[in-house]
Amino acid sequence: MNKAYRFRIYPTPTQETMIRKTFGCVRFLYNQMLAERKAPSEWDRTDAERPKRQKFRTPAAFKTEFPWLREVDSLALCNAELNLKSAFRHFFRDKRTGYPKFKSRKNPVQSYTTNNQKGTIRLEAGGKHVRIPKLGEIRIKLHRHIPESHTIKSATISRSSSGKYHISILTYYETEEKPIFPHPDKVLGLDYSSKALYIDHRNTSADYPKYLRNMEIRLKNEQRVLSRRKTGGSNWRKQKLRIARLHEKVANQRKDFLHKVSKQLAETWEAIVVEDLNMKAMSQSLSLGKATMDNGNGLFRTFLGYKLADRGKRLVRIDKWFPSSKRCGACSKINKLLTLKERVWVCEGCGRIHLRDANAAGNIRAEGLRMLGLA
Ligand SMILES: [Zn+2]
Repeated sequence: MNKAYRFRIYPTPTQETMIRKTFGCVRFLYNQMLAERKAPSEWDRTDAERPKRQKFRTPAAFKTEFPWLREVDSLALCNAELNLKSAFRHFFRDKRTGYPKFKSRKNPVQSYTTNNQKGTIRLEAGGKHVRIPKLGEIRIKLHRHIPESHTIKSATISRSSSGKYHISILTYYETEEKPIFPHPDKVLGLDYSSKALYIDHRNTSADYPKYLRNMEIRLKNEQRVLSRRKTGGSNWRKQKLRIARLHEKVANQRKDFLHKVSKQLAETWEAIVVEDLNMKAMSQSLSLGKATMDNGNGLFRTFLGYKLADRGKRLVRIDKWFPSSKRCGACSKINKLLTLKERVWVCEGCGRIHLRDANAAGNIRAEGLRMLGLA
C-alpha cells in the first residue's frame, strides 16, 4: 500500500532559491523533451502509428547540451521524463486526455519530485526537519505522525499559488490487517450524485456542509472583485493573493470533510462498491460540469480506498459502462428512455417506482456482490 502525507515546509532563502531553480530545470527539461516530439498536426497518414515509437533523448543527453541542468537534483529530472512519458501514455490510451501541454513559468503552482535512495529523504531532529537531496535540512511542520512501519518512497516539493511550500511524502507499507470477508448486509453501494457527494442504496446521501458552500460563494464574490481591478496592478495582485489563500482554505476544508466521511464509511461497512467513473468525461458533459469537479469525487474514492484497505476491507470498483441508472433493480428491465433530468421513474416491467440515484446505487451494490461472489 502507498500513502501520501502532506506537510508545510519552511525553506530558508537559500533553500528557496534552490527549489525555484529545480522547478525551472524540471520544467525546462519537460518542455524541451515535449518540443522534440512531432506534434499531432505534423503526423501524416503513414506516420499514424509512429508517434508512439518516437524515442526521447535521455536527461543525460540534455545535460551535455545544457550543463546548468547538473546543478539540480538529477532524480527530479528523471521524474520529469517519467511524467512526460506517462502524459503520453494517457494520451495514447484515451484521446480525451488531450495532447501533453507545455508547462508554463507563469503557473503559480510549481512542483518537482525526488526519490528516496537509502535514506536520502528522512525526518530529522525528532520531526522538526526533513532532509532532502541538494537542499539539506528543511524546517517542517509535522502535524501528523508517519508510522515507523512506513518506508519513504519519494517526496514532492511544491509551491502553492499563495507562495507557501509543501512537501508530499509518499510512503510504502504492508497492511497487517487480515482481509475481512464481507457479509452481504455489510456491503454498501454508492452512486456519485451530481448534487450531493454520494447517494447510497438505502437512499441516504452525504452532502457538503453549509460552511463549505458559503465559502464557495465568498470565493465567487472575491473573484468578482478581482475582475474589477486593473489587470497586473498592485490592487489586482493583492486580490489575486487573497483569492489564492481562500482557495487553499476551501480545498483544505473540503479535504477535511472528505476524510471524515470516508473514515466513517470505512469503519461502518465491510466492503463498498463504487462505479469506476471517468471523471474527465463526466466533468466535460455540460449538465454535470462544475458540481462534479467541486465534489472532489476522485479524492473521496482515493480516501475510501486506502481507509478500507487499512482495515482489511475492500473498495470494489465496477465497470463504468455498467447500466446502473437505467436498470430496474427488481426485474432488471432496462429503461432506455430515462433522461438525466428524471429523478423518479416507473419501471415498465414490474411497475415499481424508483428513486433514480438509490436505484442506481442498488444496482451498483448488486454488481459488487456478484463480483465478491456473494450474489
Ligand atoms: Zn422492474
